[in-house]
Amino acid sequence: MDGKPRAGIAIHGGAGTILRTAINSEQEHAYLTALRDIVIAGSALLADDGSALDAVTLAVSLLEDCPLFNAGKGSVFTSAATIEMDAAIMDGKTRRAGAVACVRQTRNPVRAARAVMEHSPHVLMVGPGAEEFLRQQGLPFEDSSYFHTEHRHAQLQRARQMAGIMLDHDAANLSTQTQEIAPLAPDQKLGTVGAVALDMQGNLAAATSTGGMTNKLPGRVGDTPMLGAGCYADNHTAALSATGTGEAFMRSLALHDIAAQIRYLGTSLQEAAQQVVMEQLPLFDGSGGIIAIDRLGNITMPFNTEGMYRAWMRPGEAAFAAIYADQSEDRKQR
Ligand code: ASP
Repeated sequence: MDGKPRAGIAIHGGAGTILRTAINSEQEHAYLTALRDIVIAGSALLADDGSALDAVTLAVSLLEDCPLFNAGKGSVFTSAATIEMDAAIMDGKTRRAGAVACVRQTRNPVRAARAVMEHSPHVLMVGPGAEEFLRQQGLPFEDSSYFHTEHRHAQLQRARQMAGIMLDHDAANLSTQTQEIAPLAPDQKLGTVGAVALDMQGNLAAATSTGGMTNKLPGRVGDTPMLGAGCYADNHTAALSATGTGEAFMRSLALHDIAAQIRYLGTSLQEAAQQVVMEQLPLFDGSGGIIAIDRLGNITMPFNTEGMYRAWMRPGEAAFAAIYADQSEDRKQR
């Protein structure tokens, strides 16, 4: 890399046992088209000199609105057949952050997280107090029927039969028998959406949003709203967003570990991310992946599962979208 930062955006729609045999070409096309369209929208905003913060907010809210992904509409169900969503956003320039957990009705949890960051003195809000604050902020709310999708409900029934808590894309494979959307394999359980961006001004931002894990206990909160675990951004190092077994990302503070390696050891983004995802997470029984962009614009997207829905783009260049591990596209440091 010549040292000049290169703006860019990367997004993910969750990682897990995404099996080629469990996903037909129509489903594959639907996922890739959605990922591409959304990364193009984020990149266009950056091309217009929009901020990284606005780009990740836009990309994640579009992913939340798309029922293919486990966040916003299309969120997975708890064991009580309720929807409980978590989200976080972080501004790398100021290192301000906002997050919400266990929200049930706010249409776009990422915008809720941003409202907490910008309009409250707090970082993380939960429960009825959070919903009340968000209503006061004028954020759109939806009935539970808006979030209810048949394929997620089918996943819950299967997870209940198997008495397991499942990452979305693992649970998703369970519903492919019905030829509905959402492909992953039977004995795993993931799904979450996220975006990271570097804007033309050299500022970084990250956002992550999820419905959590299928058949989770009501009240369970994962890594997504935990800074340094599921979402992190710091202009000195990188912007990062995670997907996978939340408990492992929380216990290992995976994203902060990557940023700390860059900052204190001078490790490259790619090396630090690879080390944490491939070597550290498995020590915590963690499966999943991360997307990241550093302050120079290097992008990396390692994952230790069969697949991760992902895409990236730089203003003025072509969009890249992929699902499986053998579609490796990580940008080499340049
Ligand atoms: N990390 C999310 C959680 O634990 C789930 C996922 O990414 O699949 O809630």
